[in-house]
Amino acid sequence: SKVRVYQLAKELGISSKELIGKLEELDIAVTNHMSTLDEDTVEIMKELYYEEPKEEIEDKKQIDKKNTKQKKNKNNSDEVELQADKKIIIMPDTITVQEFSEKIEKSVSEVITKLIGLGVFASANQQIDFDTAASIALDFGIEIEKEEEKEEVELGLEQTPDKPEDLKERPPVITVMGHVDHGKTSLLDAIRNTNVTAREAGGITQHIGASEVEVNGKKIVFLDTPGHEAFTSMRARGASVTDIAILVVAADDGVMPQTLEAISHAKAANVPMIVALNKIDKPNANPDRVKQELSENGVLIEEWGGDTICVPVSALKGEGIDNLLEMILLVAEMQELKANPNKLATGTVIEAKLDKSRGPVATILVQNGTLKVGDPIVAGASYGRVRAMLNSKGKNIKKAGPSTAVEILGLSDAPEAGDKFNAVKEDKIARQIVEKRRAKIREESLNATAKVSLEDLFKHIKEGEVKELNIIVKADVQGSVEAVKQSLVKLSNDEVKVKVIHGGVGTITESDIMLASASNAIIIGFNVRPSSTVTNLAKRENVDLRTYRIIYEAIEDVEAAMKGMLDPEY
Ligand code: GDP
Repeated sequence: SKVRVYQLAKELGISSKELIGKLEELDIAVTNHMSTLDEDTVEIMKELYYEEPKEEIEDKKQIDKKNTKQKKNKNNSDEVELQADKKIIIMPDTITVQEFSEKIEKSVSEVITKLIGLGVFASANQQIDFDTAASIALDFGIEIEKEEEKEEVELGLEQTPDKPEDLKERPPVITVMGHVDHGKTSLLDAIRNTNVTAREAGGITQHIGASEVEVNGKKIVFLDTPGHEAFTSMRARGASVTDIAILVVAADDGVMPQTLEAISHAKAANVPMIVALNKIDKPNANPDRVKQELSENGVLIEEWGGDTICVPVSALKGEGIDNLLEMILLVAEMQELKANPNKLATGTVIEAKLDKSRGPVATILVQNGTLKVGDPIVAGASYGRVRAMLNSKGKNIKKAGPSTAVEILGLSDAPEAGDKFNAVKEDKIARQIVEKRRAKIREESLNATAKVSLEDLFKHIKEGEVKELNIIVKADVQGSVEAVKQSLVKLSNDEVKVKVIHGGVGTITESDIMLASASNAIIIGFNVRPSSTVTNLAKRENVDLRTYRIIYEAIEDVEAAMKGMLDPEY
């Protein structure tokens, strides 16, 4: 069996040219890389190259290190390049030859040959250690890194509590909620207009998902997507970004179903509300009636002895807007909102998309720390470096402090709204975290995280995991809602408190599912039939949704579930 120059070179892990040079040094004539070699020559060359393979590999390593350093320096310059697609393979401490070959996408025999070159004789199923694997990978021109069994905490993602002296006041972040057509969008527009200087008014401002206004030298941040749906779907993903909710109620229409939903959603999230009593310019506006309706639904405004501020406004005419903004600052002041601007940024993704020309684009809200252009960043299951940042006026900025919404470029993929983001010290850390997260997501998708259900309620109570059973009640008539609410609340005992977090007339909606998902609640419906879209969403969100025709059957089920005596559903 004849061996050709290129075959031997490959086996020795060197280039054909290098081998030919070596052969010529030894006065062995070869014409090119296809020349055949006799057995003796092959033996000689193998001996020669296997003598000091480690040293040469060490040399190679040095060169490789230099290369990465140069690349890193380049990245620090103004033109920051996305590191996301650079391939570095992460490997555990020990790995079988087979697994290693698969990881570096080489054949087992190629790897074994290299191993023999290092004086290691291992079969496909045998383990090799990380250093050996690294040497061989380098030989193939592949960089590998040791898989670190570090938790995100150790990688610097855990929020060490800020020292009081490091905390500075930060602007409040506001969400606008309310019934459809009550004027949420108009109010946001009116608010944006209060702050527009004559010069900006003509220009095109880019929509980034949030806007900022300045009142008496203080900033207020508004999330641009109105409605409790966006608010709650973020919360269902574990994100809380809103400091104050503006509840818009049209003075000519009063409290409507979605007004009630918004109230429940804000209360479930423990977010203070300010009522914007809108459309007061309308001749049929009836503010007193609205205030009365609000009080009947658990929102007691100041005039009525409560502590909820109510501001009459006309979004259309721009009346009362300044007053509303001042009230926002007042409520914010009482909350003492603070953050530490002098550390790596953390926050939440408000929205994200894949832009045809710019790639993944995400609007994020910095909630703590300061984000800078060039920072390596992790957002959900994506990572990268902040290549550029645009503020809410569409201007390029270099850094963004607490309570700043910015659009960023430079992520590997588009994250999801509600994903948390963290700036980290090094690209390497960002990559490691995301690899771990992706693995975890794969794992979790196999056994979806279970929310509370009547089936396993008793078990959770016994294990002390459930102290409050949150329930949402929907029925065809108000009488049923009230009756069920009262009977359910009475089921509370020493171990578990039954709480109806939302009750309403009408069918079960997607918004109900998201509220249940965000608040770990179950949903009970009477004489209402959810659409298949809603049922599917409930399945996806793992929300226990039950419909009944008879009230007492529902009460019985909940009671039985609390005692661990519920008959399983077939
Ligand atoms: P949204 O569905 O809550 O976002 O409501 P919109 O902002 O789209 O407003 C619904 C309708 O009410 C639009 O036709 C607005 O022009 C009108 N509208 C909003 N605010 C006012 C107001 O203060 N006064 C009057 N008269 N109409 C208003």
